[in-house]
Amino acid sequence: MFERVSLGGDGLTVLVGTRNGKYPSGNSVLVEDDLTLLVDPSVNVVAAGVDALGCGVGVVVNSHAHEDHFAGNFLFPDVPLLLHEADAPAMGSLDVLQASYGSDWAKIMVEQFNYRPRGDVRTVTDGEVLDLGRHRVHFLHMPGHTAGHMCLRFEPEGVVFTGDLDLTRFGPYYGDANASLDDTIASLARLRELQDVSAFVSFHEAGIVREDLRGAVDRYTAVLGERDRALLEFCREPRSLVEIADRCIVYRKRYESIPWQATVEAVMMGRHADRLVRLGAMRNEGEGFVAI
Ligand SMILES: [Zn+2]
Repeated sequence: MFERVSLGGDGLTVLVGTRNGKYPSGNSVLVEDDLTLLVDPSVNVVAAGVDALGCGVGVVVNSHAHEDHFAGNFLFPDVPLLLHEADAPAMGSLDVLQASYGSDWAKIMVEQFNYRPRGDVRTVTDGEVLDLGRHRVHFLHMPGHTAGHMCLRFEPEGVVFTGDLDLTRFGPYYGDANASLDDTIASLARLRELQDVSAFVSFHEAGIVREDLRGAVDRYTAVLGERDRALLEFCREPRSLVEIADRCIVYRKRYESIPWQATVEAVMMGRHADRLVRLGAMRNEGEGFVAI
């Protein structure tokens, strides 16, 4: 089930998921208007059922093609589905989706997260605006977490849905094949500079953020610097990517419950290492890296 939290009082509602949207749950957004919009229907929407929404849905948007964000799409097979053009192909083909992750999760995608390929996904690009009636939705391409990750700005409330730039203490995630650390940095800089924002809504845990919005982005961004510093410290002597992954810099400790942890550590910290090589703070040494 979810808890409804109204923002602005004119139909903009956050459907707050279990434990404030802790994965695999999430915080979906519903905008009841002439055209009613549902953003990222979560597993909580699935559990509650469409009747719990209390209204018909005229359009569904996924901020990006990740399992926890599309889990409820299948409830609306005849409703237009919108994604950024870079992530839309993943919703049309399970093979494309798996290639974007870089791992074979087909069974989980279909059985736990209700993946159903659709041949009619509509695409949007940065700067497009969708008029719902009393509300307008601005699509902001904020890549990095995935190639087509978007934030959505709702007017007139000035609320920005940040998707999986989720403002958590864990920090940004760019562990997929189509993710990018450089794009994540650029997107966070853009998010920080958005003007006249009344609140952020993140899909996971941070949830509804109404105060110190730039501080929330700065603290989240600072995790990237912490990862850089930990990597440079560890690489005072040459280290292989396997050794770096084993250091658990991203997750901070080892979780037996996360079997893909070592893979994600290697992918994400490999991106930090490559970036630090480009910036002249590290160099390649054999198969590994060493700080300069
Ligand atoms: Zn995601």
